Amino acid sequence: MTEAARPTVFLDRDGVINVDTGYPHRPEELALTPTAAPAIARLNRAGCLVIVVTNQSGVARGMFDLAAVDRFHAAIQERLAEHAARIDAFYVAPYHPAGTVARFAIEHPDRKPGPGMILSAMADWPVDPNRAILFGDKGSDLEAAVRAGIPAWLLSSDTCDLDAAVSVWLERLAGAAVPDNTR
Ligand SMILES: [Mg+2]
Repeated sequence: MTEAARPTVFLDRDGVINVDTGYPHRPEELALTPTAAPAIARLNRAGCLVIVVTNQSGVARGMFDLAAVDRFHAAIQERLAEHAARIDAFYVAPYHPAGTVARFAIEHPDRKPGPGMILSAMADWPVDPNRAILFGDKGSDLEAAVRAGIPAWLLSSDTCDLDAAVSVWLERLAGAAVPDNTR
């Protein structure tokens, strides 16, 4: 029997989970946005899948490698664990057509605004597309979501208040639940 489809939140990384300091990739550069940890903990408690979809063109540009991206993601998980929060999966697009590392210097559907990472996650995880959303801070995030057939929410880059946005979305989700007519 397959696992029941779950509500799912796709998160952009830089500017949403961590402060976008410009190609951040060293664990010592990691600074979470003010409410990322409580927001993700709230989603975990609500039974949502939490999946990161992040463009990392710094890999194509030769600034750092995929192992560095993995180390940065491990640091994010460690920091979140201090707040009982956890990300279920990270999807990374290391591509950029103007890159210098040949195997990543290409156009690729995974690179947002392409929908590739979201569609891969939908194939890999029991995502309920009718209870899914993407939170991002750029137009390319929103476009990727639309092209994958899910709604998106643009966070203000001033406040980056992920928890406020997540709380509203969860309330709407609960309000939209099908009423129990069986009694
Ligand atoms: Mg971003």
